Amino acid sequence: MSFLNAFVASPGAPVVSPAAPLAIAPSTARPSAPNGNFATAATGAVAGAVVAAAAGRRRERKRCNRCNVKRQVTVVSEAGTQAGERPKEGKPLKVIVAGGGVGGLTCAFSMLKQGWDVRVFEKTGKFARFGGPIQFASNATSTLKAIDECLFERVMQKFTVTATRRCGIKDGLRSNGEFRMTDVLNPSYFLDPEAPADWFISFPLKECADFFNLPYTGVINRPDLQDILLDECKAQKEDFITNGVSVVGYENHDKGVTVKLSDGTTEEADILVGADGIWSAVRAQMYNEGKVKEGKVKERSKDGNSIQGCRYSGYTVFAGETVLEVPDYYECGYKVYIGPQRYFVTSDVGDGRIQWYAFCALPPGTHKAGDTWAGEGADAKEGADVISYLKGLHEGWSSEVFYVLDNTDAESVEQRDLYDRWPEFFRSWADGNVVLMGDAVHPMMPNLGQGGCQAIEDAYELTRILSANKTYAEDFDPKVTAEALENFYKSRMPRVAGISLLSGLASDLIINAFGTPWSPHDDKGTDWRSYLTLGWKPFLQFIFFPLQFLFLYSNHPSGGMGDLPQRMKEEWEKRHKKSAEAAFAAKRLGKPTRHWQQGGGASLLISTNGIDSIHLGLEAHK
Ligand SMILES: Cc1cc2nc3c(=O)[nH]c(=O)nc-3n(C[C@H](O)[C@H](O)[C@H](O)COP(=O)(O)OP(=O)(O)OC[C@H]3O[C@@H](n4cnc5c(N)ncnc54)[C@H](O)[C@@H]3O)c2cc1C
Repeated sequence: MSFLNAFVASPGAPVVSPAAPLAIAPSTARPSAPNGNFATAATGAVAGAVVAAAAGRRRERKRCNRCNVKRQVTVVSEAGTQAGERPKEGKPLKVIVAGGGVGGLTCAFSMLKQGWDVRVFEKTGKFARFGGPIQFASNATSTLKAIDECLFERVMQKFTVTATRRCGIKDGLRSNGEFRMTDVLNPSYFLDPEAPADWFISFPLKECADFFNLPYTGVINRPDLQDILLDECKAQKEDFITNGVSVVGYENHDKGVTVKLSDGTTEEADILVGADGIWSAVRAQMYNEGKVKEGKVKERSKDGNSIQGCRYSGYTVFAGETVLEVPDYYECGYKVYIGPQRYFVTSDVGDGRIQWYAFCALPPGTHKAGDTWAGEGADAKEGADVISYLKGLHEGWSSEVFYVLDNTDAESVEQRDLYDRWPEFFRSWADGNVVLMGDAVHPMMPNLGQGGCQAIEDAYELTRILSANKTYAEDFDPKVTAEALENFYKSRMPRVAGISLLSGLASDLIINAFGTPWSPHDDKGTDWRSYLTLGWKPFLQFIFFPLQFLFLYSNHPSGGMGDLPQRMKEEWEKRHKKSAEAAFAAKRLGKPTRHWQQGGGASLLISTNGIDSIHLGLEAHK
């Protein structure tokens, strides 16, 4: 049974609300504020047809979906008019989106669903199926559902849930290699030298999602996400995207905006959305950050520590992926091993795979592995060297870390220097009829896994605010549209700034103020950080992390979903076990198991015609 089907069939499903936030395009009324009943609104009017169709006829299903939306619009427009006096529909908003990453594609899709005339220009020449998993927290899955039921369902079908299992912080030095699931709050740790002390904090991810009745946080492979987004957009407008052409500039005027492209041509639009990632050409012009040449602006500051207004965060990250049957595979979502000057994260990413990240406080440019995120894969030698290098950096750490490193294929290792920016509190994200979203205006550290989630929230909110300004019978007024873009900045800035600051704080705190917790039984943690870390434990476990995750999940435009999350989890568990067992069995038989190997590399967008290659969500940080 599909998730959606399961939901609609549920006797406990919430009551159908009359209006879905993004379901009815041109309305004279501002769409109702996101509320707990939205999920059912989309299903009530739209999903009946969706559920009825067979799985193999997905495109057909979507047509039904759109037909229903159109029928609703007609009812809205005809209300209050006499027969024969129906007003002429205004022109659809013409939108150009710079960038086809997570944010740009989601934005394009939610706007296409409104019936708007949307075109995406993507710098990279061609999409390809490369790239590792991306975490979507409950706030993002809720937003996807508010944008579109089919989109949500398709993402959920490819999802690996992490939050329903133990996720949290482990002691990078004292975890003893048994991958134990010990009690985080066991006080016998102080008295009994044999009492396990490896789990430091357990994140209340499930509890916080249950508080709002949201689907649980998990991961999806970037290529799967990209396929789904492209497919959904194409179902709305086949030729919505042009690859291999960058946006290089713009000019506001009283009728909208002229968009300048890298092929020397220009396009007229009502709105330009700059979703062109951390090295945004649109932002470069808006904030006067340097000259744009062929969609690239990378002016380095005099001290060399920042590029185009983005500072080097102080951290470089190494990542790898392996199929590995660790003893706690089914019991753990993700583990953050903390230790001096660095931390090491492992996460179940489905199909028996573990993805790991090593976050190290190192100067920029310590390239030990290729940046396959940017299209340059490491060769076997580079990879092997980087594994020995990382093992050297983690000398004295838990054998759990070494077990994962030793079992990783050398070529899968990638490295990236991490850049971020201060939140834009005071400078508007909008300039006339041009607006920035996603990493273009708020790139953030990946510690909370929220960069892509916030880009999705931006896409939803931008569409919602713009659609509120449109009446059925009127064209968009450029002045009103510009005001709407300004309102978008005001509405999104406080939340995004908070999350961006929390993300930065997480890495700075873990690396600079966290140490191996003090223990009366050994001398592994003896400096001020160790005492502080131990002292913080109850505050972090009972106050900080619950508040942090409640804050993250507090934006959930789908509203609560009744018992759907629980039923989705049960269905997912069966799929997860089956695919993991198949991968473990294949590995035992020596068959190839690696996704990245099957895809051919770790980049979603492959280089063509000498244009940079990147993958969804990870534009080259070089
Ligand atoms: C190591 C790491 C792990 C991460 N993990 C997570 C995670 O688990 N969860 C999460 O939510 N986020 C995560 N993020 C962050 C997330 O990847 C980004 O925040 C997100 O992808 C931003 O989406 P975007 O669409 O704004 O930008 P991008 O995804 O960078 O897309 C920008 C697009 O614009 C194109 N482009 C660039 N310039 C131009 C131009 N001038 N004209 C036209 N096109 C252009 C690029 O080719 C690209 O396709 C992680 C980041 C890193 C570095």
